[in-house]
Amino acid sequence: MLRLYRMLRGMSCRRDRNGARRRGLSLPDGRRRKVRQVLSLSLCVRLQGGSKGEGLSRKRIGVEMMMTETKAYGMRLKDHEALMASSSGGAFTALSDVFLNSGNAVVCSSFDFETHRQEFRVITSKKERDAARGSKYFQSVPGDSFRAAEQWLKDHPDGELLFVGMGCQAAGFRSFAAAKGFSDRVTVTDIICHGSSSPQLWYDYAEYIEKQGRIEALSFRDKRNGWERPTAVAVINGSEVPIHTYTKMFYNRKALRLSCHKCPYATLRRAVDITIGDFWNLKNSHPEHYDKDGVSLVLVHTEKGQRLFDEVRDKVLWFESDTADCLQKNLIAPTPAASGRTRFWKDYHEHGMDYMIKKYGTDSTADRVRKKLKRMLSK
Ligand SMILES: Cc1cc2nc3c(=O)[nH]c(=O)nc-3n(C[C@H](O)[C@H](O)[C@H](O)COP(=O)(O)OP(=O)(O)OC[C@H]3O[C@@H](n4cnc5c(N)ncnc54)[C@H](O)[C@@H]3O)c2cc1C
Ligand code: SF4
Repeated sequence: MLRLYRMLRGMSCRRDRNGARRRGLSLPDGRRRKVRQVLSLSLCVRLQGGSKGEGLSRKRIGVEMMMTETKAYGMRLKDHEALMASSSGGAFTALSDVFLNSGNAVVCSSFDFETHRQEFRVITSKKERDAARGSKYFQSVPGDSFRAAEQWLKDHPDGELLFVGMGCQAAGFRSFAAAKGFSDRVTVTDIICHGSSSPQLWYDYAEYIEKQGRIEALSFRDKRNGWERPTAVAVINGSEVPIHTYTKMFYNRKALRLSCHKCPYATLRRAVDITIGDFWNLKNSHPEHYDKDGVSLVLVHTEKGQRLFDEVRDKVLWFESDTADCLQKNLIAPTPAASGRTRFWKDYHEHGMDYMIKKYGTDSTADRVRKKLKRMLSK
């Protein structure tokens, strides 16, 4: 609030064109934007409400403390091929490179084409890391990754680990690391999260499309039309098969797990070292850094996180931002439950995937007209 006070101190009474005093206050150039940022951030702090468990209480987080403690950066990889294979700007690749280049390891989730599961594992090579790229729109499972991570640390007494996962998974890993006494050897990164759908919905969907043959490759966020207009495809028998009927079910919010609507990790201030996500709002806040192939948001919460990001800086394109300029819905509150959620799950249990795809995975005529109008207006 001290910062807000200092900004407001620069205010003067507004005057009309003839120099007469008017009601209201004006700000010198440049300060208006800063005041807007601080006010929106204080609103964000009020909305967090994370006073229990993982959340940090409003009393303990002053606006000033949040501004100084969490730093916001935008970044993207220089390597275009790696950028296109990443969901956002490739923050995962850049951060994991630091660990893999020095013989350390990364705990993250990747897709298993045999079981269709997204499962956490300990990886030590860039080949495995590259395979872990790409957002998968369903809940991943921990598998035996926690035990494997502990074992890896025992086998490598000087080694360090980077953990990358959703807020809830990062919290679980952090608690495990604390209980086992290896927190200081672990850097924890979490991912901004809209919510995950039940993995069962995906398993059934994968089985449904595998009637045509085995899934060989999978992308829920293919960026060929740009980062903001992703397509979703699987490769089966060497040919692309669209899977937008699945992503439509994911985006309509009806398929998200109930716990995601009460997620305590949908806040700006998080008890991890680094948070990564998409730098939405970039066109408005930093248009000069916009890139149609994706830009990552990197929120640095701790000194350990800062040291890691400092190692990455000269290898990527990056810029410093502000926590208010990169706000997005899931940094303020969890995704609200959609109306019709109960009906969705009833339909799923009663009728199966074919019915679900027709009812929830395809556009109605009204949807199609709305989308066409939107496209025409945005040209
Ligand atoms: C379900 C889901 C919801 C998301 N919602 C948002 C959002 O609302 N706002 C936002 O800014 N960003 C969101 N993201 C994050 C965003 O899509 C990117 O994953 C993130 O920015 C990292 O991109 P990248 O280019 O650095 O990484 P990439 O190279 O694409 O790597 C992706 C990383 O995500 C991990 N990952 C992929 N799928 C899962 C999964 N199901 N569970 C756990 N880890 C997974 C991989 O292991 C890897 O570490 C979401 C991601 C997912 C999976
Ligand atoms: S919304 Fe929250 S609870 Fe749901 S998967 Fe994401 S981090 Fe976990």
